[in-house]
Amino acid sequence: MTVHTRPYLKDGIELDQVAVKGIRVTGHHGVFDRERESGQLFFADVVVHVNTRTAGAGDDLARTVNYSDLADATADVLAGEPVKLIEAVAERIARVALEFDGVQCVDVTVHKPQAPLHVEFHDVSVCIRRDLRDGALWADKRIGSSAGASDDPFDPGAGPVRDVLDQRPAQPVPALIALGGNLGDVEPTLRQAVSDLHRVNGVEVRAASALVRSTPEAGREQPDYLNAVVRLHTSLAPRELLAACQGIEMVHGRDRSDPSGNRTLDLDIVEYNGVVASAPDLTLPHPRAHVRPFVLLPWSSMEADATLAPHGSVVDLAREAGTDRVTLVHDRWPQPPSAT
Ligand code: AMP
Repeated sequence: MTVHTRPYLKDGIELDQVAVKGIRVTGHHGVFDRERESGQLFFADVVVHVNTRTAGAGDDLARTVNYSDLADATADVLAGEPVKLIEAVAERIARVALEFDGVQCVDVTVHKPQAPLHVEFHDVSVCIRRDLRDGALWADKRIGSSAGASDDPFDPGAGPVRDVLDQRPAQPVPALIALGGNLGDVEPTLRQAVSDLHRVNGVEVRAASALVRSTPEAGREQPDYLNAVVRLHTSLAPRELLAACQGIEMVHGRDRSDPSGNRTLDLDIVEYNGVVASAPDLTLPHPRAHVRPFVLLPWSSMEADATLAPHGSVVDLAREAGTDRVTLVHDRWPQPPSAT
């Protein structure tokens, strides 16, 4: 295997936007009983940020967001379970919009032009943006995290830093991410995931290893996996980096109902600047990386001198883990985002 260490350039390309505006539905949201009982008109504008290039080139609805489905999902929230605040309505709409395939970011505006104010007015609205590429995802988006730190400034129980895993570094630090998948179009998914990581604010992907194929662990009747590792530099705290990884897994359709099941995309933090720490939601370095040939082999071929605390040389660990279940697919992979 040869090493592919050409640095990626931030491409600066914004995503495309699909917008549905002025969705008009009677809802029962509000603080007052009379609002709950009689209902009133609510309007929503939803803008989802997606890559529509393939849909445009192939004139293929399956490759973009169906705006009729998006409007229906939004209307269901507007007409659905009453909540007190339009902030909560907007949050719920954002959540359903982010569940559409390919949506990486959403802007939601909820209007309440018949709100019970004491003065004449034209409109009241709340506008929010929720971006899965942002390290600072809201707490309960941290899938699988039992102890996600809240980034809600109004949450009195939420301290900004609970432990070393919430600590942002003074300068960007190196971290290693392992990528894998065995469901769907895996190679394009992994390539897109590298580019998604690079787009996260506070993350710069510096190098990608070769792409390898690995057979599933003994006893698992599953298709083969494709795996790689990437070296990045980040100014995010470890938990923020984990949240960004989980957000990217989510936009690529990761289903977590079976922890050892097939997966479209798995992103693990193998190590973060030598930090050694363990919490219910995050262990550093990754507790099983030192025995995984599909991590160690691509890593050792990318960084021959690497060590993994407290286990030692990655080349030695790779040798001990054995190479029989891992084969090379591409040594120059992926193409840098600037070339695609
Ligand atoms: P999986 O995506 O199946 O690898 O498992 C992810 C689960 O492991 C999530 O609940 C994470 O919170 C947890 N986890 C613990 N340590 C790590 C780590 N170093 N990298 C990624 N996920 C981790």
